[in-house]
Amino acid sequence: MSGMVFCRGCGKEIHESARACPNCGATQSASVQGDKSRIAAALLAFFLGGFGVHKFYLGKIGQGFLYLIFCWTFIPSFIAFIEFILYLCQSDEDFARKYG
Ligand SMILES: [Zn+2]
Repeated sequence: MSGMVFCRGCGKEIHESARACPNCGATQSASVQGDKSRIAAALLAFFLGGFGVHKFYLGKIGQGFLYLIFCWTFIPSFIAFIEFILYLCQSDEDFARKYG
């Protein structure tokens, strides 16, 4: 059957586009591929970082609320700007490993 590969975990035949085996849950892709966009996170950090929007985007809800609570101090804006630069400097793989 075309488009099918064998699971690296259990050996069961699965579709080649499957990111994880439906049978055993083993991840099939060798390279780390996150759901979150590094560029989107960077842009959110730059424009809305003072409100922690990029943290909410990355699923760090607790940190996002901290940014929101302290947004009036402008400290979150400052940290977000540093994070904006960090996101831009990071490779897609590093980013996915950390936040994906
Ligand atoms: Zn499997």
